[in-house]
Amino acid sequence: MIISVASGKGGTGKTTVSTNMALALGEKLTFLDCDVEEPNGHLFLKPKIEQVERVSIAVPLVDEAKCTFCKKCSDICRFNAIVVVGSSVLVFKDLCHSCGGCMVVCPENAISETGRELGTIEYGHRDAIRFVQGRLRIGEAMSPPMIKKVREATIPGELTIIDAPPGTSCPVIAAMKGTDFVLMVTEPTPFGLHDLKLAVEAVKLLGIPAGLVINRCDIGDRKVYEYAEKQNIPILLEIPFDRKMAEAYSWGQCIVEVMPEWKDKFKGIYRDIELHLEGLKETV
Ligand code: SF4
Ligand code: SF4
Repeated sequence: MIISVASGKGGTGKTTVSTNMALALGEKLTFLDCDVEEPNGHLFLKPKIEQVERVSIAVPLVDEAKCTFCKKCSDICRFNAIVVVGSSVLVFKDLCHSCGGCMVVCPENAISETGRELGTIEYGHRDAIRFVQGRLRIGEAMSPPMIKKVREATIPGELTIIDAPPGTSCPVIAAMKGTDFVLMVTEPTPFGLHDLKLAVEAVKLLGIPAGLVINRCDIGDRKVYEYAEKQNIPILLEIPFDRKMAEAYSWGQCIVEVMPEWKDKFKGIYRDIELHLEGLKETV
């Protein structure tokens, strides 16, 4: 089963939930940190990194000696990443989505591929947990290809927990797409509700079953609860605001390490997801 842990906005406790769930389950599973712009699952799981791999995407390299400046390449590029100006072909590597279209249409075979480094992927372990994280190069904007690469580390049939990037744009979709369940983390505030609504829309478009964790459940109001009920989204865990938890977070410790009584609650999320998915199968 693949569970993606997502939130409409940053700072709601998405990484707290994903890392605590992984640690509470403590079994053979894969943890994928797809929050590639700011991966911080490692701060809590403290894995031993065993391998680092560079990731790059193919971008065009133009041989102007062969080029007739016909503009077919710039006409096909939806991203304005290749432009013909007089007798020069300019490639804007940062805009290129590596679709290969320009290479296919070039009648002179003047375009070949070169690599643009996106960042690195780190592989390691924390006990039985297999840990994989993507780390986007500073200043790099193209995170979906990096997220796809991190997701290639999924082992079919094994439990995988994905820490998705915050928000509701392309990187989040790349992290959630094709997963079996989306666990959304929010807080009961107007900001939390606003961003939860956006996240729910995205999850609905993808057609993935979802559940909710309400963090800092004792602040704010009941509007998030009312919305979840209306949308028929099960609430799988409520985490109160707790000084001990906040201190653990600031020291890079998981809740289940400093408050072992929470282990069963985080394990329970997984059990409830299984039951929820079984229930959905029966209603089909
Ligand atoms: S399609 Fe090929 S030949 Fe035409 S402008 Fe582009 S690189 Fe040059
Ligand atoms: S590979 Fe695709 S995105 Fe990149 S320059 Fe060529 S057509 Fe544009």
